Amino acid sequence: MAIAKRYLIPYFEGSVLANELDGILAETFSFDIPCTPIDVPSGSAELLELFHGPTAAFKDVGAGFLAACISRLNKTGHDTQALLTILVATSGDTGGAVAAAFDGRPGVRVVVLYPDGRVSERQAHQLTCWSDNVQSLAVQGSFDDCQRLVKAAMADVSLSSQHRFSSANSINIGRLLPQSIYYADASLRHFRETGRKPGFIIPTGNLGNAFACILAREAGLPIGEIVLVTNANTLIGEYLQGTEWLPRVGIQTLASAMDVGNPSNMERLRSLKGEGPALNQVVRVFSATDQDIENEIKNMFTDFGLTICPHTATAAHAYHQLSDEERANEDWILVATAHPAKFESIVEPLIGASIPLPKGLSDIMSKPSRFTRIEPDLNSLKTQLDLIPVTGDK
Ligand SMILES: *Cc1c(COP(=O)(O)O)cnc(C)c1O
Repeated sequence: MAIAKRYLIPYFEGSVLANELDGILAETFSFDIPCTPIDVPSGSAELLELFHGPTAAFKDVGAGFLAACISRLNKTGHDTQALLTILVATSGDTGGAVAAAFDGRPGVRVVVLYPDGRVSERQAHQLTCWSDNVQSLAVQGSFDDCQRLVKAAMADVSLSSQHRFSSANSINIGRLLPQSIYYADASLRHFRETGRKPGFIIPTGNLGNAFACILAREAGLPIGEIVLVTNANTLIGEYLQGTEWLPRVGIQTLASAMDVGNPSNMERLRSLKGEGPALNQVVRVFSATDQDIENEIKNMFTDFGLTICPHTATAAHAYHQLSDEERANEDWILVATAHPAKFESIVEPLIGASIPLPKGLSDIMSKPSRFTRIEPDLNSLKTQLDLIPVTGDK
């Protein structure tokens, strides 16, 4: 917590929230973020477990922090009585984390858009089981359709004058900032213990989590190499090899929370650190196929007794793509982005064992689910937005 505060104070200077930082951090970091050593034959490797929050994915950190900030701002910063509408497009985990973080908070409603049929069953439940201030929309399309709809709604002059919109997607700096903290914390702890800067291997979709790591390194934290891993959506890797940046439609993979055809934080990275191959100075990129993901889930279980989710498996794949020297001579922290129990239908058959449900997830699974299907067009979204009165009492 001391590290978190030290890291964030400059960002809060002059803000109405400057004096609220302790409370915000206490709400955000209310669960453990342990680093588990992996018993590798040479060198050092650890698993940074970001999945012990309420919805069992790393996004609980960013969403929790954002909700803690926004609910305070909503109380103090505005004289308007209008309900704040948080629009969130999700490939599976963001929506659940944001909904959980804002669940039941007065003065705020959350509208979650997710691609129907393209999230795991447990994720779908997590997107649809909340209080009345959360509206869950099953979009008949892809994640990119959901993201496009959110952007279109916000850009629509009449809609945005009618509603007070905010976004909770990973472009929101309120999510990126707190995500830097676990990199700050893990790297400092490692550096103090060993005198070496660890490299991080980060499963990547919209590039939010990886960007947070880059931010932490820019801030001077002892972070070595930053390795990104995508699934079969390989746009970032190709761009760093010199291909033009041409966003595409996301391909469905086993690591579905990373099925992003147009990674939204790339614009930020390009404007901060340069275009195309210049970015090879900043990060390295690997990619994992579904076959690689399956192999890693099996091998990490048999070789190290670790059960990992399909996203985390991409990090394991990248680790195994490093040269023997790199694995032996540098220390690596593999980022575990979700609990494997969220993706049990993929993981359990591969390891031949059942995965116990963590308490938070089993609580969520016992709640009733409620959602509305919509077509992937702005009019359908507009109809849903109008269903709830635009003024709420706070
Ligand atoms: C969102 C997510 C990712 C990708 O993170 P980005 O910040 O979008 O790059 C990876 N793994 C899991 C489990 C996720 O939920």
